[in-house]
Amino acid sequence: MSTQPVIVWLRRDLRLEDNPALFAARESGALVIPVYIHDEDEALAPGGAARWWLHHSLKAFAEDLRGCGATLVLRRGDGPSIIKDLVGETGARAVYWNRRYAPALVGRDKALKAALKESDVEVFSFNGGLIREPWEITTNSGSFYKVFTPFWKAVQSQGPARRDPRAKLRKIKGPTSTPASDDLDSWSLTPRDPDWAAAFSETWTPGEDSAQERLKDFLERAVDNYDDDRNRPDLESTSRLSPHIAFGEIGPLQIWRTVMEQIDAGAIPEDQGRKFLSEVVWRDFAHVLLFNYDDIQKQPIRPEFADFPWQDDATALRAWQRGETGYPIVDAGMRQLWQTGWMHNRVRMIVGSFLVKHLRLEWQEGERWFWDTLVDADMANNAASWQWVAGCGADAAPYFRIFNPMTQGEKFDPDGVYTRKFVPELKDIPNKYLQKPWEAPDAILHKAGVKLGETYPKPIVDHMKARQAALDAFENIRKN
Ligand code: FAD
Repeated sequence: MSTQPVIVWLRRDLRLEDNPALFAARESGALVIPVYIHDEDEALAPGGAARWWLHHSLKAFAEDLRGCGATLVLRRGDGPSIIKDLVGETGARAVYWNRRYAPALVGRDKALKAALKESDVEVFSFNGGLIREPWEITTNSGSFYKVFTPFWKAVQSQGPARRDPRAKLRKIKGPTSTPASDDLDSWSLTPRDPDWAAAFSETWTPGEDSAQERLKDFLERAVDNYDDDRNRPDLESTSRLSPHIAFGEIGPLQIWRTVMEQIDAGAIPEDQGRKFLSEVVWRDFAHVLLFNYDDIQKQPIRPEFADFPWQDDATALRAWQRGETGYPIVDAGMRQLWQTGWMHNRVRMIVGSFLVKHLRLEWQEGERWFWDTLVDADMANNAASWQWVAGCGADAAPYFRIFNPMTQGEKFDPDGVYTRKFVPELKDIPNKYLQKPWEAPDAILHKAGVKLGETYPKPIVDHMKARQAALDAFENIRKN
């Protein structure tokens, strides 16, 4: 065995099973130094809720690695500089990582690869995070897909990335003297004074074991009705795997293989299993957009939207962020986000539409707020979804599709269970008026203990007027 160790730079791939970079490093026969670098650079730094997740995920991963015989080295600062320092400190002969796809990160990794190669250090990079990488699935003319349905068809016909599933690593040999590591607590990733994430641990357990359990539980309990129920925020009908996937505690290829095995074994219905996989492939599609456009977090994919007459209204933005818009389903969603770090997909679409259409506030404000408050905040999914909601993305919802928050609430939360849970001040309002309490007769409001404007806000905008104003604004940019 060579005495020169190798380094594995872990990023959003905090798992032992089916982790191609970690596996290849171990297979090289060298001693392995796994490293995680926390980069405080504004564009790369996780938001508040994701920092909470990261703390617990790193803790779980470091423990799992210790169980295999390796020590996770933690460092803070600029990734490439720290990797070069570590190569110098340890005399490592190679560096391994799983690839990332934002243009800035691709550029960063390429430059590091070139610099390391110049110093005779080998670099090996892998697909550890997608079903297929952004350049692999192309149209007949060789360009990337801008519409989801043909992309999904192409992924199904070409199949997932070809690599053997890798069992969980049980043994990784690290050097006897490990490079210096930060203490995770010194990064202060979890909030204090106030601890606004106190309730997160009632909903979530970060880490690879818990990700596997969640997949198992979803496949046993909910996948059979996934297509029918996935739009219902009052039912636990989706997998809630998103933060685990975002941090790479479970890889999409593991999900693909498990679901396909169960379909083949007749354990789950094929249509439901494939519908679930198509949602996982939306994540690949978002990465195609992330990879192919310069900056989807800030720049609209459809350039005409750069001239959209967005409003500048800090009071309305704050009401939206706090779940005080006076529209119960919107407020329920925004409060679910604040309390649990997560929001149901259907409600994400409703609150997103409300922000950009009813309030005509910039979609980037929504993107930033979600980035800071979601435990599953993901560069590709968040930006691509906000662009979709605002109508300026690839394959976006057409601009004239403006969700009516009352009918959306009545349709997808028919018994009001979700709305009442997160907007308890309306819990005694009958279903008929729950999504539009301003229409309830005084006697009903009185009986339910609701005083509009006091115990619960009056609507901050009039639905019909806001709808018309949005249509007019969108029509103008379309004409121009
Ligand atoms: P499931 O229905 O169980 O789906 C399984 C997995 O597929 C998800 O975990 C996720 O990885 C992927 N997925 C599902 N729907 C989508 C989608 N529409 N686009 C891309 N991938 C999808 N998802 C994030 O992971 N991070 C984000 O930052 C994020 N921001 C969003 C912002 C807006 C405005 C909207 C409308 C959606 C956003 N989504 C984001 C997509 C989606 O809402 C979540 O992935 C989903 O709600 C997670 O719940 P789940 O794991 O139970 O999903």
